[in-house]
Amino acid sequence: MTLHLSGRATSTGTGVKPALAAMASGGPVVLVDDRAARANGFLVIAAEAVTTGSAAFFVRHSSGLLCVALPGAECDRLDLPAMTGAANDPDGLAACVTVDAASGISTGISAHDRARTVALLANPESSEADFIRPGHVIPVRAAEGGVFHRDGVAEAAADLARAAGHRPVALFAALDSVLTPTELAHGAELDTFARTHGLVTVSISDVIAHRLSAEPLVSRKVTARLPLQAGVTRTVGYHGLVDGAEHLALVVGRPRDGEDVPVHIHRECLTGDVFGSLRCECRYRLDRALATITAEGIGVVVYLRPSGTAGHCGSATGRFDTDRMLSSVAAHILQDLGVRSVHLLTDNAGHRAALQDRGLPTRIHGLAVAAIS
Ligand SMILES: [Zn+2]
Repeated sequence: MTLHLSGRATSTGTGVKPALAAMASGGPVVLVDDRAARANGFLVIAAEAVTTGSAAFFVRHSSGLLCVALPGAECDRLDLPAMTGAANDPDGLAACVTVDAASGISTGISAHDRARTVALLANPESSEADFIRPGHVIPVRAAEGGVFHRDGVAEAAADLARAAGHRPVALFAALDSVLTPTELAHGAELDTFARTHGLVTVSISDVIAHRLSAEPLVSRKVTARLPLQAGVTRTVGYHGLVDGAEHLALVVGRPRDGEDVPVHIHRECLTGDVFGSLRCECRYRLDRALATITAEGIGVVVYLRPSGTAGHCGSATGRFDTDRMLSSVAAHILQDLGVRSVHLLTDNAGHRAALQDRGLPTRIHGLAVAAIS
């Protein structure tokens, strides 16, 4: 017998928007962990929307381990310390001590009891006294900043709950395979499961892309007139809202009024930009871009200064795709400057994709770069 969710309109599809609609109305979605080639799937629902019926659905289709992703501040408020050895989890899941509701339940393991425990974890009025430890629900500390800081299942689940208008607390459980009962479901079986139960599928990559294209990534801090060798620019300073980095835009003319505004997106490179190192083309590209926009009387050089690196174009990046984040930051800066369409002076597929995700049409110039030996 298959346990179905009842009494709720269902919608199938893929992607963040239908997933948010489903979660906003209190339903679950299938979250695909696409970090690995063999992607597993998880049922996810906003914890404050959990009912006995949905908890039973989660138990029936998973191996029964129900996890609840919470912000670190909530874990601290509810006195949920890290489970011993959690730091050694190969998936980086920051599991806390298990809990049950302290009242209103029997053994704690039934769907009814676990739904009550999950609801209490989502309730801002709950306190540490509302739980007994150990129990049958696993709270998981979601990294601050969500998928921007860690591209994990707990972070994506909490991000989805928040974006759907709920508290950032989400119940999640790994989907078991029916075809191969000794394994987790993956691939086509996840699609079949979602279709059968009228659920939307969404991947961790979808959540990251949605946040990069939809959320504010920088705030404008200061504007100053800056005369350069190439000409006079207006320099605009930005504060990165995700990583606290400081970025600059060097602006010539009124990009707000232009079409196909010449743009060069530059990543800080200490040895190239300052000392003119010939190991890379950074200084050459920067000089050419500044000469071009001053000659044309309009244009922008977005100067990106990623935090936590030595400021070299070859610097190593963190686990999260820093290049992708920086491209989206550049797109947001250009949007803030009122740029409506972009004429990229240096082609870069990542920059193009980020600009297009932010709704900025882009064409490529293909700046000629002399061979550097
Ligand atoms: Zn360089």
